[in-house]
Amino acid sequence: MQSDVIENIAKRKSQTGFDVYKLRDEFPILNQKVHGNPVVYLDNAATNQKPLSVINSISDYYKTINSNVHRGVHSLSEKATEAYEAAREKVREFVNADSIKEIIFTSGTTEGVNLVAYSFGESILNEGDEVIVSQMEHHSNLVPWQILCEKKNAVLKYIPVNDAGELIMNEFEKMINDKVKMISVVYVSNSLGTINPVKEIIEIAHKHNIPVMLDAAQAAPHLKIDVKYSDCDFLAFSGHKVFGPTGIGILYAKEKFLEKMLPYKSGGEMIKSVTYNETVFNDLPYKFEAGTPNIEGAIGLGAAIDFIKRIGYENISAQENELLDYANEKLGEAGGIRFIGTAKNKASVVSFLIEGVHPYDAGTILDQMGIAVRTGFHCTQPLIEQRYKLTGTIRASFSIYNTKEEIDRLAEGILKVKKMLV
Ligand code: PLP
Repeated sequence: MQSDVIENIAKRKSQTGFDVYKLRDEFPILNQKVHGNPVVYLDNAATNQKPLSVINSISDYYKTINSNVHRGVHSLSEKATEAYEAAREKVREFVNADSIKEIIFTSGTTEGVNLVAYSFGESILNEGDEVIVSQMEHHSNLVPWQILCEKKNAVLKYIPVNDAGELIMNEFEKMINDKVKMISVVYVSNSLGTINPVKEIIEIAHKHNIPVMLDAAQAAPHLKIDVKYSDCDFLAFSGHKVFGPTGIGILYAKEKFLEKMLPYKSGGEMIKSVTYNETVFNDLPYKFEAGTPNIEGAIGLGAAIDFIKRIGYENISAQENELLDYANEKLGEAGGIRFIGTAKNKASVVSFLIEGVHPYDAGTILDQMGIAVRTGFHCTQPLIEQRYKLTGTIRASFSIYNTKEEIDRLAEGILKVKKMLV
């Protein structure tokens, strides 16, 4: 091979040896301009982009086997059912669950938490009992528990967060008592990037027989989920944050809990038999999947899992850690930046403020340069407003297809924002 060709390939590869430029070819959306500039998509914590294999899996489904599942004896229905159930098996393997009975298709993390709060929380909570979440919860893992506690006259308690954005674990241990009936915490914070010590939390909780739910919406894109290793009782994530489609998500729950829980939604699919007098519920996991499911969403999620397996979490972590370090360095060099969330253990999310600039103004100017970042509370209003006393932050969140050149563009954008507004 010619030396200049070899040199070019070497340049194109990141330090991890992973060819990010080749991978980007699989994401057609990244190859476009926004306001005349090549798009720099740094809003991956909100939703990440989809590779062609996922997009094609959905159109192939509609082109070849579209039919309702579990109902027909005809061939198309059988094929659609096979594809839908094959996706469930992929999810089971992805999270390392024992059985497909423990894998429920939902519309996303939000529905997963609601299902557990209503079907499980309702049945175990009594007046004066306590539920523990943390100060860094996304609204999805806060509001359902708040509503439930209000309804049951129970108390919702918050694990405090230190200035760096880490859970204060000795305070958490002090919160454990006989009244605590449930703990639900975010695995990786969407607004701070903190990776929480969930295994430790679960170990402490289980010593007191308290079940634990993990909001894994931001963990699944970055870390290998292993429900056996963490020993969590419930875990939810969303398809659209792991390269899959919107409107599909997963609730993992231990079979022993699901067996006892009542359905949260009812109607077709979740029944075994119905008379005018009574209904016998279906077996697990179908008892919790009322109505025609999101068939193409499940198939797309299956394709997304195949994509992640092909890339490998080692490559994902290595690439994202490199981007995180580079972003910290480049943004630091820009000057006048205050980082919000400086935990030791972090995923590739950088929340920050530009001194003297409102986050919304910065976001608007960056958008004009084709750079997509998130601004505001990031659906963690109590954390940003009450804990950090801020009106919002700017959040750049990186995925496997992002490059250092894109971070350079962000740093240039910040300099422009400062020039215009400071
Ligand atoms: N939990 C966390 C930590 C999140 O980041 C999000 C989405 O941003 C959610 C829950 C809610 O996910 P969804 O809107 O897909 O249900």
